[in-house]
Order: sequence, then structure tokens, then C-alpha cells
Amino acid sequence: MARTQPDLNTSPHVSDEVRQTTCYMCACRCGINVHLKNGKVAYIEGNRDHPVNRGVLCAKGSAGIMQVNAPSRLRAPLKRVGPRGSGEFEEITWDEALGIATDWLAPIREAAPEKLAFFTGRDQSQSFTSFWAQGFGTPNYAAHGGFCSVNMAAAGIYTMGGAFWEFGQPDWERTKLFMLFGVAEDHDSNPIKMGLGRLKERGAKVIGVNPIRTGYNAIADEWLGITPGTDGLLILALIHELLKAGKIDLDYLAHRTNAPVLLDDDGLFQRDGEGRPLVRDRTTGETVPFDAQNIIPDLRGADTVFTKLIERYLDPQYAPDAVAKRCGIPAQKIKLIAAELARVAFDEAIEIDQPWTDFRGHSYDKMIGRPVSFHSMRGISAHANGFQTCRALHVLQIILGSVEVPGGFRFKPPYPKPATAHPKPHCRVTPGQPLDGPHLGFVHGPEDLCLNDDGTPARIDKAFTWENPMSAHGLMHMVISNAHAGDPYQIDTLFLYMANMSWNSSMNSAGVMDMLTDTDENGDYVIPHIIYSDAYSSEMVAYADLILPDTTYLERHDCISLLDRPICEADAVADAIRWPVIEPDRNVRGFQSVLVDLGARLKLPGFINEDGSAKYKDYADYMTHHIRRPGIGPLAGWREGGDGRGDANPNQIDRYIENGGFWMEHIPNEALYYKPWNKAYQDWAVAKGFYDSVQPYIFQLYVEPMRKFQRAADGHGTRQPPDHLRDQIRQKMDPLPIWYDVNEEDQQGSDEFPIHALTQRPMAMYHSWGTQNAWLRQIHGRNPMYIPTKLWEANGFNTGDWARVTSPHGSITVPVAHMAALNDHTIWTWNAIGKRKGAWALDKDAPEATQGFLLNHIIHELLPPKGDGLRWSNSDPITGQAAWFDLKVKIEKVDAPAEAQPEFPPQKSPVGQGPDKLTWKVGE
Ligand code: SF4
Repeated sequence: MARTQPDLNTSPHVSDEVRQTTCYMCACRCGINVHLKNGKVAYIEGNRDHPVNRGVLCAKGSAGIMQVNAPSRLRAPLKRVGPRGSGEFEEITWDEALGIATDWLAPIREAAPEKLAFFTGRDQSQSFTSFWAQGFGTPNYAAHGGFCSVNMAAAGIYTMGGAFWEFGQPDWERTKLFMLFGVAEDHDSNPIKMGLGRLKERGAKVIGVNPIRTGYNAIADEWLGITPGTDGLLILALIHELLKAGKIDLDYLAHRTNAPVLLDDDGLFQRDGEGRPLVRDRTTGETVPFDAQNIIPDLRGADTVFTKLIERYLDPQYAPDAVAKRCGIPAQKIKLIAAELARVAFDEAIEIDQPWTDFRGHSYDKMIGRPVSFHSMRGISAHANGFQTCRALHVLQIILGSVEVPGGFRFKPPYPKPATAHPKPHCRVTPGQPLDGPHLGFVHGPEDLCLNDDGTPARIDKAFTWENPMSAHGLMHMVISNAHAGDPYQIDTLFLYMANMSWNSSMNSAGVMDMLTDTDENGDYVIPHIIYSDAYSSEMVAYADLILPDTTYLERHDCISLLDRPICEADAVADAIRWPVIEPDRNVRGFQSVLVDLGARLKLPGFINEDGSAKYKDYADYMTHHIRRPGIGPLAGWREGGDGRGDANPNQIDRYIENGGFWMEHIPNEALYYKPWNKAYQDWAVAKGFYDSVQPYIFQLYVEPMRKFQRAADGHGTRQPPDHLRDQIRQKMDPLPIWYDVNEEDQQGSDEFPIHALTQRPMAMYHSWGTQNAWLRQIHGRNPMYIPTKLWEANGFNTGDWARVTSPHGSITVPVAHMAALNDHTIWTWNAIGKRKGAWALDKDAPEATQGFLLNHIIHELLPPKGDGLRWSNSDPITGQAAWFDLKVKIEKVDAPAEAQPEFPPQKSPVGQGPDKLTWKVGE
């Protein structure tokens, strides 16, 4: 009997229109196709033509539909009516909100602009927000880098002119051995997943170095469960082994680095009359500028950087046998890895038949590649020795000759860009006037520090001071405690964007809540005004006086600019936009458009015309018409007269939309590798507007500016550190990478607290951004503390048990879970899953609020007292990077409490609690 098959449509049309924009469920900026039905988001898929993700979409990206329908979205501007922290607000109009902000900000701009502290979280418009702050005139601006990964960024720029992630990537198509250091699975999410997929397809080997084996480390061919904070020591041991075996790329070191640069008796570079570092020409024996034409720099001689480097790292203190116990990795394993790096780099070298010419005029008929590459993220960065550890990793890359070569690590335009091509930090305040230059940058000696004439810090976060001279991203994590202490001075208005500082973005969260609500003897708040902008009812909202509600990422214009952190690939330059693929259904405005409006109301230069009228209608207008330098604007594509450089094009955003939301141009073949030294790349970079004149440079194995700080500590020069910081500067600002044991020095590692405690961001949550997301909450609604087998058994834990975890700063009581693939001395949990009751429109009994928890409560921004009368900062002494991962604790099994401890009183939410069920039918 014939059967009739049912007529099923397995791929029904879910949409009547598709709009292409850029994802913002994490910082990777993948291209997405947003399917709309009757004007509402029906479905999100990856854009197959997009350079970042080529159609790949992660769980977060597809869950964007829940982000734009979240009950926790703020709905209107809010004015606080109850005490700070109570969450009691009244809705006001935008006119009233902007009027209040103007009334607070205009007088301080005229009298003392530094009384505004304007800090932003993981926003992607920092070239714009910093421009606004510069126009206002306050020195107190930065984004979140100081508590994220400034060590990695600054070490990369100072050493090579670029770092990992947004600055560069492995040569995924050619690398044969790939090593990851401290990379959690959310870092560089889709791009690295795709890259790892390519490596696996080709049979390349992946080695993961991380105390925790999850995510990328779980699919690594080999996992080294290193003891936290010792990565630098492991890397220096690898360098030691390579030097001992003579497995280093001498040709690369001579031609591409400052290894042949000559040092004087003070440890500074010998220079010519024009200030150019000198080298010895191997052919003539003469001393010549490093960039003289056709020279062959000589590595030999007692006075070269190379000799100093060899002496340093051949020292037996870096031998594998000497470091193995501390690192928790057998000496034999370290030796094997060094041998494998050498074998792949030198025995499996690759060649591309592509002629090129370097900046000294040498022509080559091939590009030679060392197919070994590395990637690292916060795991090695968020330690008080993180800057030097990141520098050590770059030195390892460089001695192998594996940077900017086929198969190695490659920069993404507009990088490479040496520290000398970046601005220096500026801090000179003139009431009623703009700041004297960009806030953030790279110091090249004590003369560049942000100090007042009397030596006091010019910035509220004390960035670019003797405490942390190279704090290239500022210290957002110190702003609230310094403002509360009035040290170095009091401020009037704290203006924050997208930074959940009263919860998961701060150390010492409970202390921060107290500081935000503390009053003086008159009953006035110690921090008088707090303005906050966020799209959601996060924990921080309750602590602000004025809320400027932001849109979601599908309702706004954004500019992912070459002036900022673009979406380039190693083979191509690219930038992108977001645009309102749906209209907001609430009384909210994109934060950047609000800043444009505020800028005009405050009459900030750059935001008004000569007649005082507003220069830009909104952020989209700014993106199109703002000119930063002649021919250079926020977007590089489709400018009048060409891509890269050209006049503003009024139809530019339309062109981006037609092209899927991005612009991309491939780098010419002869410019694809050796970018810092390659004449063809340098010329192309100037044509595209990355810089205005060619600026080839050599990698800085030896960072001379650090030596200048050491000399100041030794009593040289007119600017010298205060006495209590001289030793710190002398020891830590070593121009060649060193390793030091932070736990020994800061007492966090005393016998009482023997266990390391870490957090990692999961693949499916980007900090607290996914908290309100109904789909993602089902993946991570709670977070146990993971315990390694040895500690699990020693403490007699069983499934379902709880533990009290205590640091020098306090205790938390939390559920535990067993995990075998974990360093023996380390416990860890997912970051930012725990929520405060009342926030994010969650039910008060939501698992995030009852079983979820934060490690932040037991990490302090200051170290425990050392008995010297000072409280030292819990941060890297070079950059100020928050040392989240230096935490040491003890654990004990306890009876399960009703809820994770500490508990905080519920907040009243301005958006109330979300419904128990949120359902709708697409298109109806
Ligand atoms: S990795 Fe995922 S969340 Fe991040 S931008 Fe790409 S799709 Fe969006």
C-alpha cells in the first residue's frame, strides 16, 4: 500500500527582511544577519561574508534575540528619589535628564574640569568617548583596560608594537605548533575557535598552558596545568633552554630587533646626534645608526643588548630543574617543549616565493617562516608580575624569529605601531578649556609621567605615576576608592558607562558599595554626583543619581573604527558599524548620541560650530562627518576620494549597510609579512592613513624607557620617585624581562592561605552581559567552586557540599564541585554569574542570586598591611593592572547555608521583576 508522506517544510521562512550588522554579545564583533518578521527580531545567524566569523555564530550571538527582549532593559531616564543604593527612582524626560547633567557638569568645567571622572567599561567607542573627555578638559578618563589586560597590551606595544587578540593573530593557515598561555574560552571567541578548527584539520599541535583545563585547553593536544603566577618563570626557562641549545634565529635578531643596539655604561642606548640608536655594522665594523642603508647589524660585542640578554637568561636560576617545582611542571617536560619549539621553528621552516624589501634596502626573494605561534590572554596578565611575564613571552617569540613571518604571529592593521608612534599621556588642565592632548598613551621616561608640579598625581586613578608608571589604559578599578578617600583630590561627578562597578567589575564589591553611599559630616555623599549609563538594570544602577538609559546593540549606531579597536585581519584592513536594525520601543537613546548632545550643551570644542550651534545631530552624524586628521575620520571605507583617506561622504553609512555592515581591503601580497620592516607595507599603511609617514622600527627586546625609570630611582635626573618607591622601581622596571614571586612579596601567599583562587569567563557569558538573557541563563545559572582532586579528598568533600573560602580580606561560603583537570593548588569558578537580589529583573530566588557567587568579595584593591605603615596596591607595579589572579585562600568544609554567603539586601529595581514566562510567537 502506498504511503503518503506528510508535506513538511523543514526550513520555513522565519523572516520577511534580513538586516546585517555587528554582534555585540561579546567583544569579538562578528557579522550577523538579523532576520526580522513584522519589524521584530525573529532569528540571528552569522554573516558568511564577514571577515571576523565567516558565518560562525556562538551561543551568545544567537541569543541576541533574548537580549533585545530582556525584561531588565531600562525604559526611560531616571532620577534618584530614595537614598543611594535603595534603587528608588522616578522617570524623567530626556530634556530634564540632560539638563541635570549639564547643570552638574558645566560649572566644574569652568572651575576645575578634573572634578569630573569619566570612565567607561567594555565599550567600543573609546576614540569617541576620549575625544569628548578631552574636549571637556578633565584628565580623568579611561576605559576598563586597567582591570582587564593592560599588561598584555602594554607589554606587546612596548616590545613589538602590537599584542594579542585585537592587535594580531597566529598565522592560522601555516602555523604548525601553537601554544596558548592563560586563555579562557571566551577570549577571542569565534575567531580563535575557527582558528583552532583549522589547526586541528591540518594536524598542527596545540599546547595549552593554564591551571584549568576547560574550553580551548580541553581540546589542546597537551595541557600544562601550571601553578598560577609562574608562567613568566616557565617562559624564561624555555628561553634558557633555547639559548643553551643555540636554537635561536640570529639573523632575525640582528635585522629585526634591538639585539645589536649598543648600550652605554648607564644601560642606555648609544645614539647619534639625531637620537637614533647605534649598532655596529658587521661588514665595516663601523658604528652606524640602526636604520642606515644596507648595513648588517652585528650582535657581537660586550656592549650589545644581545650579550646582556644571553648573560641574563643563561643564568642557572632559569634552568628547568630550578623552576620546575615552582611552576608545577616537570623539568623534563619543559626541556621537551623547548626542543619541540626549536624543532618546528627551525627544522620545519617554511618559505613563500614572495620577494620583498626591508627598510634598510635589503631585497629578499623569499619570505622565510618559523611556523610556531603563541596566544595569551588575562591568565598571564592579571598578576602583579604580569607585565614582565607578557614581555617574556614576546622575547620567546622573537628569539625564535616567529613574529610577522609566515607560520608565526602576525599583526592586524593598523598594527604594528611602536610605542613611539602612540601619543604620550596628557594631563594639563585649564579651566574652561580642553585637555592639552589625549589622556592615555605610552611614557618614555619619568618626564612623561602625569604628575603635578609638586609631584602629586594629576589623575584621580593615579595612572602614570611612580606607583605604576606605564599604566597605558588608566586604572578604572582605583577610581572609586581614590575618589572616596579624596586621594589625590576630591571629585564632584563620577560619570560611568557600561561598567558594573558596584558588583562584578570591582574588587572588594561590598567596600565599593559602602564608598558609593558614604556621607561626610554634613550628611552629603562623599562622591557628590554619580551619572551612569547602561542598557540594563544592573547592580550599579541603584548607586547612581542620574541614569541615562542606553539602547541595546541592535537599536543603535556604533563605529568599530581604525582609530580604536577595529576588526582587521592579518591579511586585511577592515572596520565596521552597527546601525538600528530595529527601533527602540522605550524612551532610551544610544549613549554616544547622548554624549554628542551633552557635548553641544556644554559647548565642548569639536561638538559645536563657530556660531555655537550643535555640530552633529547624533552619533551617526559624527561617524560620518567627524574629521580627526586631514582625510581621516572614524570610518575608513567609502570616503570621498577613496578608502582610508578622503573627505567625509554623507552616504558612507549607507554604503556600509549595503556591504553587510563592514568595509575591508586586502593587504598587497608583497606587504603581507614582515610589516614593521617591509617597505611595501609601510607605504601601504601611509596610503591608508594608519600613520602619516613611514615608520619602520625594530623590536625592543630591551625597553630603554624602563632603564630610565631605574636610573631615576638611583638618583639621576630632575624627576625622581619618592623614597618609599625607589626600590620597587629599581627592581621591577628591569629593561629585560624578569620574574618575581608576587605571593612571597605581598604576603597573600603566607602559610595561612596556601591555595590559589581564580575565575574564568565561560564561553556562553560575557561578564554580566548575559545575565538577563533567558537562553544563556539556562547554560550558566549558578557557579560552583571547582576543587582539584587532592584538595577534594583532603577536605573530605562530597557532591553537594559547601565550603567556606577565606582570603586575607574576607570569606565566602559557596557550593563546591570536583574537577580533576586542575592544578593541585588551585580552585576556581566562573566569573560574574552570581547576582545581587533585585538586579537584572531576576526573581529574588533565581539561582544566580541564591547559589551564584562572586570571588570579587574576597579580593581587595589593596594588599594586606606589610607592617611598613603603607597599604600597597593589589596591582602590577609597572602598569597598575589589577592583580585579580594573585588571590590566595584557604578552604574548609561547612554545613550548607540556605544561600551562598555573603548575602546582600535586595535592591529595588527601577524595572521591577520580569514575568515568570516570556513567550511570543514570531511575527505576531
Ligand atoms: S563570538 Fe559570539 S558573542 Fe562574540 S561577537 Fe561573535 S557571535 Fe557575537
